[in-house]
Amino acid sequence: MSVTRMLELVEEMKYQLVHDRRDIHSRPETGWLEMRTSAIIAKRLTELGYEVLTGSKAIDPDSRLGLPDAETLERHARDVQTQPMTPLNYLTDEMKAGMTGVIGILRCGPGPVLALRFDIDALPMEERHDDDHRPYREDYFSRNPGMMHACGHDGHVAIGLGVAKVLMALRDELHGTVKLIFQPAEEGARGARAVTAAGHLDDVDFFIGSHVAPDDTLDDGDVTCGTYGSLATTKLDVVFRGLAAHAGGFPENGKNALLAACNATLALHAIPRHSQGQSRVNVGSLISRGGRNVIPDCATLQLEVRGETTQINQYMTQQAEHILKGAAQMQDCTVEIHKVGEAEGQASDLALIQRIADVVRRDLPFLTLSSEQNAKNWGSEDISIMMNRVQSHGGLATYMRVMTTMPSAQHTVGFDFDERVLPHSVMVFSAAALDILSGKEDAQA
Ligand SMILES: [Zn+2]
Repeated sequence: MSVTRMLELVEEMKYQLVHDRRDIHSRPETGWLEMRTSAIIAKRLTELGYEVLTGSKAIDPDSRLGLPDAETLERHARDVQTQPMTPLNYLTDEMKAGMTGVIGILRCGPGPVLALRFDIDALPMEERHDDDHRPYREDYFSRNPGMMHACGHDGHVAIGLGVAKVLMALRDELHGTVKLIFQPAEEGARGARAVTAAGHLDDVDFFIGSHVAPDDTLDDGDVTCGTYGSLATTKLDVVFRGLAAHAGGFPENGKNALLAACNATLALHAIPRHSQGQSRVNVGSLISRGGRNVIPDCATLQLEVRGETTQINQYMTQQAEHILKGAAQMQDCTVEIHKVGEAEGQASDLALIQRIADVVRRDLPFLTLSSEQNAKNWGSEDISIMMNRVQSHGGLATYMRVMTTMPSAQHTVGFDFDERVLPHSVMVFSAAALDILSGKEDAQA
């Protein structure tokens, strides 16, 4: 009985899951720098017997958003080669050039194509260093300055490797194809576009993603099988360029880039609300350098807009572009607008939510389901781009949550989670895969 065997395998790998999560936690890597992480995933999937795609085979390099500069990539590539347990044989030149992310494929004859998504990147934060914080107390805190796994993607890597092991061990019972997508650069909504552009979602019939999440009143069980409503978003980096001049002697010769950026900031926050749903705008950074007696010739903005639907976000993005160009024109400056991140609106398919809920009730009765099985999402998630691609050709997609206790919220310096969520997540993914690829029904039309 494959479910019984699956549960035995998960029980056997309990310590491995914690070990993997803590290793990744101690060496966090932000978007497009997941070089050591990708090398480890590639090694493990290869050893398990997966067909493994890395570098430009896993992602479309031209579709990467918000890529770090060449110096940052080079420095990190040098650093990871000296770090313990980096599998140098699997650290490719493409990975070192920021083509991170790994896809493992397991082909088990005719049947549906099932893709499971695990995001692997960390956040640009400095982890808390004191004995109240378990990663510090138990010595698996971040060794990479300015980077921290504060969202739980370290756990997602461990979960993905655990699922890989289970499905390979049970491959004789599977009918169809499994794609394990280890996605880079989720934070800032930068990586899903590059995986999708490489075509990996085009033949997918069933798509499942999941996030470790805090148990609270919204998610009152161990598992919420689907979510909807994460906000579509566009992240923009903007550069205004003007002309420097003596502020006392010849101010009329200057073109004031700082004023352009200031005018733009105020006008951006005054974009009219949309009648069809929620919208957001935030300018998070305005930087202009110069002396007090110099008309500033350069100013940069980092901003984001969001919308309840892809369409509302497009409206916000268009309005923002008009304002940025108009503000530049007012000061006779130029403006460059760079898109550095992007997510779409998102909704899970009720049929797939129901199917996974039935699987949990039948095969994992010791896990509780949340009372609301299709829960509203917060924030934005670029998994939306993958889900929409799958749904656009009639496939079914869901984005789940598996709950755990967290001493401090996600994206805070004291973030951690109860590691029992690791085996729970492996079980839910594996049980769903066993059901979907059981061969008891034809591939979904
Ligand atoms: Zn996350």
